[in-house]
Amino acid sequence: MNPVEHADAAQVIEFVDKKQVQPEKIDPILFESYIEQGGYNTYRLCMEGQFEVEKVLDVMDDSGLRGLGGAGFPVGRKWRIVRDQPAPKLMAVNIDEGEPGTFKDKYYLDRDPHCFLEGTLIAAWAVGIEEVYIYLRDEYAAIREMLEVEMAKLQANPPVANMPKLHLRRGAGAYICGEESAMIESIEGKRGMPRLRPPFVAQVGLFGRPTLEHNMESLYWVRDILEKGASCMTDHGRHGRTGLRSFSVSGRVNKPGVHLAPAGITMRELIDEYCDGMLDGHEFYGYFPGGASGGILPASMGDIPLDFDTLNDHGCFIGSAAVVVFSDKDQARELAVNAMKFFEDESCGQCTPCRVGTAKAVNLMQEKQWDQDLLEELSQVMVDASICGLGQAAPNPLRCVIKYFPEELK
Ligand code: SF4
Repeated sequence: MNPVEHADAAQVIEFVDKKQVQPEKIDPILFESYIEQGGYNTYRLCMEGQFEVEKVLDVMDDSGLRGLGGAGFPVGRKWRIVRDQPAPKLMAVNIDEGEPGTFKDKYYLDRDPHCFLEGTLIAAWAVGIEEVYIYLRDEYAAIREMLEVEMAKLQANPPVANMPKLHLRRGAGAYICGEESAMIESIEGKRGMPRLRPPFVAQVGLFGRPTLEHNMESLYWVRDILEKGASCMTDHGRHGRTGLRSFSVSGRVNKPGVHLAPAGITMRELIDEYCDGMLDGHEFYGYFPGGASGGILPASMGDIPLDFDTLNDHGCFIGSAAVVVFSDKDQARELAVNAMKFFEDESCGQCTPCRVGTAKAVNLMQEKQWDQDLLEELSQVMVDASICGLGQAAPNPLRCVIKYFPEELK
C-alpha cells in the first residue's frame, strides 16, 4: 500500500490529493531471506566479543546519527547515558508514528523489518538491556501481523543463546503516546499521559527502570553504520549539514512518499530533485517542514536547509521530517485551523494551558477576523505552561500564519 494512504495528513491536513495514491507492491525481506543475506551476523559478532562496546559507541558518535523521531538527540550519547545506569535496564521502541504526515517508519518496516530488529538488538547489547518493548501504532495492522510472525521466527531461532526478550505492544491510536513518557505509561497498561521530568526516562523509565527509548528509524540505521562505517552517514549532507534524512513528503507534488535525501537539503531542492516538481496547475505556496507541530513556512522561505536546529529561529522545526507541501490552491490559515483542531482532539487533558488553550484557540481561529494579540497571548501561555511538547508546539502553525501569511488575515 502506498504510505500516503496511511498518513494522518490525509485526515488532518485535508489538501492531500487522493489522485496521488498509487497501489504499490511491497516484497518485505522476511527472516529466511534476511538470514541468507548475512542478516544478524553483525549482532552475532557483537555478542561474541568481536566488537568492543566502546568502539561501537565511538562509531555511533562519529556517524552523527541522531534520534529520528523528532528530538534529534545524538544516539551515541544516549547509549552512553543509559549504559551508565544501574541494571536491570529496559528498552522502549517508539513506532507510534502519529505526527500528521509522517510515514517513514512504516516505509522501512514494510520493506526490511529485520534490519530494524538487528539494530535494536545491537543497541540492547551495547547498553546492557535485558528486555525490549516495541510499541507499534495501532493503525499499522498489517505490519503488526507481519512483525508478530517475524519476531516469533527470530525468537525461535535466536542468532545467539542469550538474546534479550522482545515484546510487541499495540498502541490505541492516541497521538500523545508518541511522547516517550506517555508511551511508557501506555506500555505499563495505564492511560497514556506524559510524565513530569525529572526524573528522565533514562533514569526512571519503564516499570521504574532505566530505559533506552528510541524511534524505530534511529535503530534501522545501526547495522549499516557498523558494517559500512560512520562515513555511510557523514558522506552525505548539503548546505553545511551532515547525514541523511528520510523525508515523508505529501501534498501537492508529483511524487509524494518517503525520500531519503541529504540532511540540509532545501524545500525547493526536495520538490525539484526528489518529488518531480509540483502537480500541474499548482504553484508552490508554502509547506509544513515538520508535521502539524513544526510550523508553516511560505514558499519565499523555501531555501532554508532542512535539518535539526536550522528552523528554530523561524519558529519551526523539522521534527520527524514530515514535509507537507501546499499550493496557491490552499490557504495556510485553513491548514492552521485544521492542525489546531487536531491538537484539541489529541490533548491528553492533563494540564489546563493545553486542554483549554487548544479549544480556545480553535474558537478564536474560526472567527472571520483573527484577534491576533489575544491569540499571541494565548500561544505564549501554552508554550510557557504546558507540561509536554504537544501543548508547547500546538501554537506553532497559528503563529506562523500571523508572521508569514499576513495577507490571509486581512
Ligand atoms: Fe497533556 Fe497537552 Fe499537557 Fe501534554 S501539554 S500533558 S498533551 S494536556
